[in-house]
Formats: sequence, C-alpha cells, structure tokens
Amino acid sequence: MTELTGLTEEELTGWVRSEGFPAFRGKQIFQWIHQGVDFEGMTNLPQNLRQDLATKAVAQPVTIRTQRVSALDGTVKFLYGLRDGNCVEGVLMRYKFGVSLCISTQVGCRMGCRFCASTLEGCVRNLSAGEMLGEILQANRYLAGEEKKVSHVVLMGSGEPLDNYEQVIRFLRLLREEHGIRLSLRNVSLSTCGLVPEMKRLAEENLPVTLCVSLHAPNDAIRRQLMPVAVKYSIPEVLDACRYYIAKTGRRVIFEYALTDGLNASEENAAELAEILRSLQCHVNLIPLNAVPERQLRGVSEKTVRRFLEVLEARHISCTRRREMGDDIEGACGQLRRKVLQTEMGDK
Ligand code: SAH
Repeated sequence: MTELTGLTEEELTGWVRSEGFPAFRGKQIFQWIHQGVDFEGMTNLPQNLRQDLATKAVAQPVTIRTQRVSALDGTVKFLYGLRDGNCVEGVLMRYKFGVSLCISTQVGCRMGCRFCASTLEGCVRNLSAGEMLGEILQANRYLAGEEKKVSHVVLMGSGEPLDNYEQVIRFLRLLREEHGIRLSLRNVSLSTCGLVPEMKRLAEENLPVTLCVSLHAPNDAIRRQLMPVAVKYSIPEVLDACRYYIAKTGRRVIFEYALTDGLNASEENAAELAEILRSLQCHVNLIPLNAVPERQLRGVSEKTVRRFLEVLEARHISCTRRREMGDDIEGACGQLRRKVLQTEMGDK
C-alpha cells in the first residue's frame, strides 16, 4: 500500500501514471489528500478509480483515536491512531495569532531525558513524513466546522525530530507544495535535545524553520543528570552548532529550559546561563518542569520562575515564561498516551 500523504505532487503524479491512470488525476488526488479527504470523498474522480485507489494506496495514514478538550482554554489533545496499531499524541492550541499544533515525530523516543514521559519505553519506530503530515490533516478536519486551519506547527510531541532526519526534512518540504496545505516554514518550530551533527546539517537545508534547543541546564554537570545526550555532546558543542545555525539562517535560536526543583533553578544557575548565552542571538523559554510520577523530579513555584527570569533579564537575555495550556488534559509530552496505554493494558 502506497502512503500518498508522503508524496510530493510530482511523485504522486508519477505513481498515478505508473498505475495506468491519466496524469491529470495526480493533481486532483494530491489536492484531495491535502484536504484530508479519503478516496470515497474524492468526488471528481470516477467511482471505479476511487475503488481501485482504495485497494492500492492509503489516503489517511492517521486517524484521531480519542480527543480531550480543555475546559480551561480550549486546548485539544489528540491521541492519533496509526495503521499498525501504534499511537502518538498531538496538541492543538488556540492563540490570537492562529492555531498551533504540536506534532509527534516518533512513536516513543530513545533519547532518555529523565523528565520526559515519551521516552520511558524507548523508541518504537520513526513516523513517516506522510504520517506527520497526516497529523496536521486530521487536525484541520477537526477544525473544519470552525472554518479554521492549523497555522503554526511545532515539532515538540513525542520523538526527537533530528533522530528521524530524512523523514522530518521530507515532511517540511511537503508543507511548501504549491497545491498542498502551504504552511509557511516560518511558522514551524523544530525542537531538538541537541544532536549536534544534525543541527549543522539542518542549517544547510535552506529551510527557514525556527530551531529550538532543549538546554535545561547552564553547565554539563547538571545537564548530564537530566539528559543522557549531554554525555555525547557538550554544551559548548551545542552552542557552536547554534551559532552555525544562526549564521547560516539569520534566525535566532530558542532555548527551552524546564525549571527543576533543587537542580537547575537557582539564581546562580540563572547567572551562569546568562553568561554562556551572552552575545548569542537567542531567546529563552522557561517552563516549570511538569512532574512525571515515574521520576523523582519536581517543578518549581511561580516565585522561583520569576526570580530566574529577573536574573536573565537583568543580564539582557531575552526570555519569557512559557504559557502552560491544557493543564487539565494531560497536555505534557507523552502523558496522555501513557495513560491510555496503561488503561488499555489494565483492561486486558
Ligand atoms: N525531542 C525534542 C522535542 C520533544 S520534547 C526535544 O528534546 O526538544 C518538547 C519539549 O518538552 C522539550 O524541550 C522537552 O525537554 C520538554 N519536556 C519534556 N518533558 C517535560 C516535562 N516533564 N516538563 C517540562 N518540559 C518537558
């Protein structure tokens, strides 16, 4: 079965021809696919063609298995079902500037960050580019009644995007297809735990996405307690890769920093962070760590966040406290998937 959401219009047209259909059907099918429509809904195609396609290809590699809507802010958490029975999460957030969707790039993750629920069972498999696009297409279908569409995408769901490099790049290119969903790459943020070689490679792709780096520590001693990847790549190496990215793309880098009680949240830690980020074109996003019951790590009080922020500001580091959304619906990474899987396993 060919997964049509993963193909460019040119590739899709090539496939249509190789199957013996006229080439002009390629564009029609491509447009339907990017509207999230399954074969039976492709009303300008003859019935026999639609039936034939359904036996050979997949138009919707992703479905919405369950969804939860936050009563607090209208944030929606999707549990997406994949064709092999796996599932991943997505979070839809509503802002004044548009609708932002956080998507997953892998089933699970193999990076092993101590605070992250997505990585607890390792990486099951990579998502394909077509599945990543499918996450957006399904969210657009969900929004159709409101005449809205996803306008911003963040690759911050489960998985390490740069550990699934080829498919993530293919996915990013699909967003720009002329007859596709045409989402500007300037509205796309890619978050990495800091895979240095791939960060440099990304800098050379000429894709104007915003690079976010999960830093979470002002020095390697602390970072290594939280993130195994920090043993492989040191902070100076990560920051060098960031400088390279900034030089190549002209875009600032965003650092994510989850404040963790007793570990990385003191005023001294803030001062040290300001020092290493000095003269770097960047922004820091602070968020109190979302406690994961499986680990003995806790978040911090608002007061601690404020103090940390003030130290950075006093040292002229651009920073904000990231808004938490969907707190009542297991908005944080991997938590809904785990809950559903645990419930399902418990039911058996
Ligand atoms: N693998 C990528 C993207 C996925 S995680 C990365 O590491 O950046 C998206 C963000 O959520 C990362 O910054 C990650 O460190 C953070 N995160 C994961 N678990 C968290 C938790 N329990 N509390 C706060 N932030 C968390």
